[in-house]
Amino acid sequence: MIRHVFAMHVPAFGRSLKLPLTLADLRRPGFAAASPVHILPAGVATTPSASGPAAEGHVALTFDDGPHPEGTPQVLDVLAQFQAKATFFVIGEQVARRPELARRILAEGHTVALHGYLHRPHPTRRAPVLAEDFARGIAAIADATGVEPRLHRPPYGIYSAASLWIARERGLQPLLWSRWGKDWRKVNTPEQIAGRVLDKLRADDVILLHDADFYSARRSHRRTVAALPLILEAMRSARLATVGLA
Ligand SMILES: [Zn+2]
Repeated sequence: MIRHVFAMHVPAFGRSLKLPLTLADLRRPGFAAASPVHILPAGVATTPSASGPAAEGHVALTFDDGPHPEGTPQVLDVLAQFQAKATFFVIGEQVARRPELARRILAEGHTVALHGYLHRPHPTRRAPVLAEDFARGIAAIADATGVEPRLHRPPYGIYSAASLWIARERGLQPLLWSRWGKDWRKVNTPEQIAGRVLDKLRADDVILLHDADFYSARRSHRRTVAALPLILEAMRSARLATVGLA
């Protein structure tokens, strides 16, 4: 429930703080970190169909809260079927439990980004605790994969003044989102999740989904996995390709 209350206000909040919500924002100087994250162009990113017409635009698919022993492999399998790329905002304590899944995400050409070591709302935590959480989260990813994350998204999409300062100090690029499936909810169908994501979906959108149910309704990741082919099929028809972020 806390996710719902916080997340409802995120787009306005993100805009007011100049936090990137879209790929277009990531390209803007005022929004981007000092060392910008690269949006991998078509060719490295996936085109909708290897033999079909070229993409007319790009969107970023992002998955929060994993890695999860069931949800993450299933999401990766669907992405592979569609030759789609995604960014996984992982939780450090989950990476520490299953580092092989973090390695698999990278090995299959996706991006591992930081969501936190613990999934706790930043405004309720003191600055030293937040600094420790960032350090542990970055270390968990680096220990598992040998790679330090470049992108960060806070739990519930909400920074505090302290956590935004820490993220920037650590060289992390914040990235929120512009479309979501509300896939963390208890009452939901794959069709509803896909419908929310696809409603007014356009080039440069950043899509928020979840490959784990650790911090949301039980087994919500199963509905996300079922929604994903619907989303990717519709994107293929609309000639919207996914991009990698690095
Ligand atoms: Zn989350």
